[in-house]
Amino acid sequence: MLRIYLRFSAYFRPHRRMLGLGMVLLLLAALVEPLIPALMKQLLDHGVVQSGQSAWPWWVVPLAVIALFSARALFSFSSNLALSSVAGKVVATLRRDMFARMVVADSRWLAKESTSSLINTLGTEASVAADSFRIVFQGAGRDLLTVLALLGYLFWMNWGLTLITLTLLPMIALVIRVVGQRLQRVVQQQQQAVDEVNYVIEENVLANRMVKLHLAQHQQVSRFRNATEYLRGRQMRALAAAGAMTPITQITASFAVAVILSIALSQAQGGELTVGGFAAYITAMLMLINPAKSLSDAYANLQRGRVALERIFRMIDCPEEENLGSYAPNRAVGAVQFKEVSKTYPEAGAPALNRVSLSVAAHSVVALVGASGSGKTTLVQTLPRFLLADSGEISIDQVQLQDWELGALRRQIAMVSQDITLFNDSLLANVCLGETVDETRAVQALEDAYLLDHVLSLPQGIHTVIGHDGRQLSGGQRQRLALARALYKDAPILILDEATSALDSESEQKVQLALERLMQGRTTIIVAHRLSTIRKADRIYVMDRGEIVEQGNYAELIAKDGSFARLIRQQT
Ligand code: ADP
Ligand code: MG
Repeated sequence: MLRIYLRFSAYFRPHRRMLGLGMVLLLLAALVEPLIPALMKQLLDHGVVQSGQSAWPWWVVPLAVIALFSARALFSFSSNLALSSVAGKVVATLRRDMFARMVVADSRWLAKESTSSLINTLGTEASVAADSFRIVFQGAGRDLLTVLALLGYLFWMNWGLTLITLTLLPMIALVIRVVGQRLQRVVQQQQQAVDEVNYVIEENVLANRMVKLHLAQHQQVSRFRNATEYLRGRQMRALAAAGAMTPITQITASFAVAVILSIALSQAQGGELTVGGFAAYITAMLMLINPAKSLSDAYANLQRGRVALERIFRMIDCPEEENLGSYAPNRAVGAVQFKEVSKTYPEAGAPALNRVSLSVAAHSVVALVGASGSGKTTLVQTLPRFLLADSGEISIDQVQLQDWELGALRRQIAMVSQDITLFNDSLLANVCLGETVDETRAVQALEDAYLLDHVLSLPQGIHTVIGHDGRQLSGGQRQRLALARALYKDAPILILDEATSALDSESEQKVQLALERLMQGRTTIIVAHRLSTIRKADRIYVMDRGEIVEQGNYAELIAKDGSFARLIRQQT
């Protein structure tokens, strides 16, 4: 717990001046606190005199009361403001750090996290953590100081009695600890329940058409009901645990107060205490209860904040992609070689790739064909190191992939696959993804991808924002936009993974032309089932269950009359 808060405190270091200001103000607010019972004592002992003749003019006391309370309010308010502003800045930094890590995270780690849980950590948990800090600081900081200031005053007035008070405190502390542990467990469960609810929402937004088509709404509604019901239960428990904290502390505290009261009363009767002294002592005692109570609330907040921080730091500490290589040429020539590459997915029985060897000469075109599930996508995903092979060697320009600097490696590769990812941004930004924006080149790329006519017909042209995942575009237009992006990237190696499989025939023709333009002067690995594309390939590899079973050019493979010939016959 201490370690995690120490680490968290590093986030406050850049704001230490504001933080210091907030703390000074807190201190001032706390120091004003014992002045109130002190004033009470003076008032009773000197202000009110039995005979009715006051030693002070009448207006002194009311003025002092107003001044003291105003000072307390002013100090509290401004310390509040200072601390909130620091908390806000810390939230922003935490979010930036998490996001920066997320985009370089190892894909295997990301695959295990649900989007909703990441969103929750980035959004809610960051503010919960900083808020818990603010509340703890303000509450515990101020209340702790108040308690200390009041205790100091009590000691000064009557140390014997105060010692007895202090021996009672550990009792309260123990109670707080026991309830607090339970609270922490419940809070953790509550967070998991929130993730689950978010997850159901996320899935249903993404798959809403499927849900409608299969009339699965009832099923999903009851699934959601279960998730929310579970969450409600956890929230109730957390509320009950947090709520029980205060009354339990109060009841424990009342025992302490009762003991002290009786001793003080007997001392007063013995004449050791003046009336003013007694009243001031009891006032200070009672003033102690509220801050002591919020101290126990602060504990609940501390627990909640710790759970949030654990999730946040787990995300910030997630494994990055391995990047140990240093080979970083500006532009590769583009010779690609796979040697005995094997890959078995975790929790899969058969290998997805089984000792696959193939080489692609620079600027040549290789086609991968084979039944669905034969390992074609797996093979091409290893090239940009989206997947790591279990064994075997993969090289570009005779340099093994792990010796390439990861960024340099990926700069050499343009990829168009079946599922196209578009950003809810302008067409221009989508074409120039990750590159410096050059409008002339982007227009050229769109033209070469046969998309410019359509783009120009849009009201804002190239600056049109294409909507969430580019839903305003047809399948063929999306495909051509992806090709324009690949053209713009102008990488020496091109991977096309069923890039034309989801097209109508009108778009297909255009995409085909665009593809041919794209392939010029590049090393191309094309996963295809269209005859027209395959026929032009320099070499064709036929895959079956993770292995290469045939290779050769089109004529050779047809002449061989093996698996390839069979595949082609199935198509026509
Ligand atoms: P293709 O692209 O030729 O259709 P894939 O490379 O996508 O084939 O898949 C090859 C095999 O690996 C299949 O049996 C598939 O079920 C399996 N596979 C693909 N992706 C994963 C994954 N992420 N986890 C586990 N198994 C996978
Ligand atoms: Mg595939």
